[in-house]
Formats: sequence, C-alpha cells, structure tokens
Amino acid sequence: MPLPFPWITQDEDRTILEKLQNHAIELGAESAVLLDTHRIITRDDLAALCKKPGCPNYGIAASCPPYVGGPQALLQDLEHYTHALFFRVHAPKSQVFSAMLPEIMGQVHTIAASLEYKALELGFSKAKAFAGGSCKNIFCQDQPDCQVVAQNGPCRNPTLARPSMSGFGIDVSALATAAGWPMLDKNANATMDDAPMPLYGLVIMG
Ligand code: SF4
Repeated sequence: MPLPFPWITQDEDRTILEKLQNHAIELGAESAVLLDTHRIITRDDLAALCKKPGCPNYGIAASCPPYVGGPQALLQDLEHYTHALFFRVHAPKSQVFSAMLPEIMGQVHTIAASLEYKALELGFSKAKAFAGGSCKNIFCQDQPDCQVVAQNGPCRNPTLARPSMSGFGIDVSALATAAGWPMLDKNANATMDDAPMPLYGLVIMG
C-alpha cells in the first residue's frame, strides 16, 4: 500500500505531522489535511481583492494589506517550507451570515494560532499560521484601532490573531481541491439555514 504524504521522507516527520493533524481535530476543526507546500498557489489578482473599495478591512489591521508581505513575499518564503496543514471549520450558514461571524472567525484564528504553537513545540521552528478575515473585527472590535498600525505597538492578541490568507493571495479554492474538499456550490442548499459552510485556516512548516 502506498504511504500517505509521499513527499514526507522521514518517518519521524510523518509521525509528528500526523500528530499535528490529529491536534487540529481536537481543537475543533471539522477536517485537516497535510499537503506539500507546492500545492499553495499565490495570486496577485486574489490579493488585489483586499484593496479598497473591494474590502472595507483594507489597512485597518496589521494582519491585512498593505501591512502583510503579499503574494510574492509568501512565494519566496515558501521556498523554506515543505509541509502544510490545511484545515476547515464548519459553521451553519445562518450563523456565518449573522452577527456571529466574528466569533466563528475567531475560532478559526484560535485554531490556526494553536496549531502554530504546537508545530513550534514539535520542532518545526519556522511554523507560521494563517486564517481568514480581519482580526480587527474579531479580536479588537471594541478598540478604536489596531495598536500595531495606529501606535506601532505590540499586537493586543498575539496568541490568537493570525494574518489573513487573502492578503497573501493564497488560492483557497486550489487548496480545497488539493485537500479533496469540493468547494461549496453557492446555489445549492441556498434555502437551508443549517447547511454547513466551510471556513479555512493554514499552517506552513519547514
Ligand atoms: S492589535 Fe488587534 S487589530 Fe491589531 S493585529 Fe493585533 S488583534 Fe489585529
């Protein structure tokens, strides 16, 4: 039987990565898949969607453009990474399109950050996590501003908030395809409020 994750050459790495994959589920992810980092595609056109007027979150937090490196910077960075853990959280459609969205996105950020810490603990010293949505609307919604952007100070939530995948132009659809997860048909289940909607996070390790 062929080994899973054929790009992982060391048995030790395989065991550690599977431990991390299981940890994602323990933390509340609905599913988590190990991928070769070559499956991560960065696209300038996707990052461009973060700019005004497309996204109201442009410039409001250090985790979003123009304060993140963007597609080209991530592409260069990825040369030093070999493994990725892509995970998804499922939430009912009625909650995603409600005032509960920041709480749900907060869960994705928290899982991503926890996995990053776990990967560091397991020996992946360059582990880095990404989530979705602006952390300003999630963790600092009661604050007048992002402390990093407005005061050049430290992040108020360094153990929770992670940069947005969108700001780096990460093609989430391509990752979902690589993970074997069909992308949601926006027209299907349109009337079902309890239809599960996926929200994604990513950790890269070298
Ligand atoms: S201070 Fe708040 S808004 Fe700024 S990066 Fe940290 S969590 Fe995000």
